[in-house]
Amino acid sequence: MAEIIVPGPLNLIENPSVSSQEIGDCSEPPLKKSKIDVAEEQGEDLEQRLNEILCCSVCLDLPVNLVYQCVNGHLMCAGCFTHVLADARLKDEQSTCPNCRCEIGKTLCSRNLAVEKTVSELPSLCEHCSCKLPRNVLEHHQRSDCPQRTVKCAYHSIGCLWQGAHCESSDHEKECEFPQKSGAEVLETVKELSQGFKEEIRGYLNIVNLLSFEKIAFTDLQLRPYRTDDFITKLYYETSRFTSLNQQWVLKARINDSERNPLHSTNRHLTYQMILKSRVNNPVTFHFMILSGPFTDIKVKPEVYRFEFSGDRSESPLQLMPLVNPADGNKLLAAKTINVRLIMFQVQK
Ligand SMILES: [Zn+2]
Ligand SMILES: [Zn+2]
Ligand SMILES: [Zn+2]
Ligand SMILES: [Zn+2]
Repeated sequence: MAEIIVPGPLNLIENPSVSSQEIGDCSEPPLKKSKIDVAEEQGEDLEQRLNEILCCSVCLDLPVNLVYQCVNGHLMCAGCFTHVLADARLKDEQSTCPNCRCEIGKTLCSRNLAVEKTVSELPSLCEHCSCKLPRNVLEHHQRSDCPQRTVKCAYHSIGCLWQGAHCESSDHEKECEFPQKSGAEVLETVKELSQGFKEEIRGYLNIVNLLSFEKIAFTDLQLRPYRTDDFITKLYYETSRFTSLNQQWVLKARINDSERNPLHSTNRHLTYQMILKSRVNNPVTFHFMILSGPFTDIKVKPEVYRFEFSGDRSESPLQLMPLVNPADGNKLLAAKTINVRLIMFQVQK
């Protein structure tokens, strides 16, 4: 995003060097409020009023990125919007605007670009140094510009555990004892660190090896929501029957399966299982993994599972579908369908 510096009054608020202190240095004590003080107060007052107008009608926070509105113009941040849709799906109800109860949904609501852009120009406090900056430059400032942002010592990969404000890091690094240590002294730390990377690489190498299997198939699947006919109905997702590697399958998924009431939990996760619909005379073993489907913005971590299917073992246990960003669980629920790509590898006898 382009960095826009807010002109005019907002810069005035930002710039504490032009404050009542300087005016206070004059020989006469200021009886009236200075023009600058008044402008500052009015600026803050305007900011406060704008916050109240532009905030999300559900969480009352200023929206961070996308803003949706119902047909009557009530604003919802992207997080609350997807959450409201997801909750309605879990309760098997039509989702409605929390303000006016009109029907809402992905196609019934629109973005509000004017609000999105206005909010991005409103100032906010840096979480490290407390200076005031427009929201659209704040993230860059906090991540790479702020002198108070927390950084690690440059020698952390050989074991220095120091971390602190960026402005103090060069002083620390001049004194840091780690560059003086011998190779033998830092060897253990380096080994431990590389162990973590090795395990991650092992996971990926396993996938690369599976790609050499003779029988591989990938299928793009759409999971649709259904409800169990128990006394207290439960939401689950299921694909229609599909054929992969000469067998018929159904893929089923559940949300927070171990919990009685997933509505009471904010930490939502998906588990899934493969159900073999064809009859097999001899046991067959498959490796399988789920990836994000094409055109979905939900990222899934590749995790391979293995199961031996046989005549009396036609359902794999529920496996975790690990999300890169756990907050995407609500996005999945808010979507009408979940699009995934299933990759299967058949183990040859
Ligand atoms: Zn909200
Ligand atoms: Zn409304
Ligand atoms: Zn800062
Ligand atoms: Zn250090």
